[in-house]
Amino acid sequence: MIPVTAETRVVALLGNPVAHSFSPVIQNAAFREAGVDGVYVVLRCEEVDLIGFMQGLGAAGAGGNVTLPHKEKAASVLDSPTEAVRRTGACNTFWGENGNLCGDNTDVEGFRRALQHFLGDSPTGFRVLLLGAGGAARAALMALLDDGVDDVLIMNRSVERARAVARRLGGGRTRVTENAFEVEGGEFDLVVNTTPLGLSQEDDLPLDLERLSWARGVMDLVYGAHPTRFVRAAERLGIRAVDGGEMLVQQGAVAFERWWGQPAPVDAMREALEVVRSSEVVT
Ligand code: NAP
Repeated sequence: MIPVTAETRVVALLGNPVAHSFSPVIQNAAFREAGVDGVYVVLRCEEVDLIGFMQGLGAAGAGGNVTLPHKEKAASVLDSPTEAVRRTGACNTFWGENGNLCGDNTDVEGFRRALQHFLGDSPTGFRVLLLGAGGAARAALMALLDDGVDDVLIMNRSVERARAVARRLGGGRTRVTENAFEVEGGEFDLVVNTTPLGLSQEDDLPLDLERLSWARGVMDLVYGAHPTRFVRAAERLGIRAVDGGEMLVQQGAVAFERWWGQPAPVDAMREALEVVRSSEVVT
């Protein structure tokens, strides 16, 4: 147990729904391992209450995370946004500093570190197929472009939303598929799934990988108790694949660094995630 005292800083995850989040387990394990005097809790919160919670926690010298559906609203209320917040328009981590409300989008650096962990290298020169065009896609796209990929092709259910993401972040190296046939026979160094598809056994796959002529690796941002359907489909075709567990740990590690100003105990965070995953009941 963490001894909670009058000095303990409260760090909170704000969102709705939040009940099934793995973040409290990962962050409280990190707080214990690092010996910082904090406790991480979950607060289900409506948009109308978001600003009050963020300002109150920031003023109390603490901070928190923001998850769906509030990441964009959170970005709009910061006094001091990082470059990642400004470019992606989303904030998932906030804290108070000298009376200012500061915020970052740690999904960007979290994605970058998880990809580096997967590849053992940076993706310089890669051709990438990016599935989805929501908040996670914007974070992944920013990291990929900053890390020197050659070309990103975005495929999304709503083509207009994909175009808007390409306009916002693309910088000339991003294209959008107008229809699914355009990827037929394509060759990609990396396929990244940022849609929520594939966690549940009933879901369609975000892409039939057999339609590509070649893919070197697959990174699925979805995570759960077991390998996602997309990861298993890739591995059946002999493609190296990883789910979103490492990115979850890494975006949490960057958030830890923002709140506490010290390196995060990443191994303890990975171990905590594995324990909670292995205790999850399959439904
Ligand atoms: P979001 O902003 O709501 O975007 C969801 C995207 O998926 C949109 O492009 C949407 O297409 C597409 N999509 C949703 N349902 C679909 C369906 N039935 N068929 C086809 N496309 C569909 O969500 P997000 O924040 O980007 O999160 C997406 C996923 O990434 C979630 O599963 C989340 O848990 C995961 N994620 C993981 C991490 C991590 O640390 N591992 C971090 C962030 C997010 P439209 O534009 O057409 O609606």
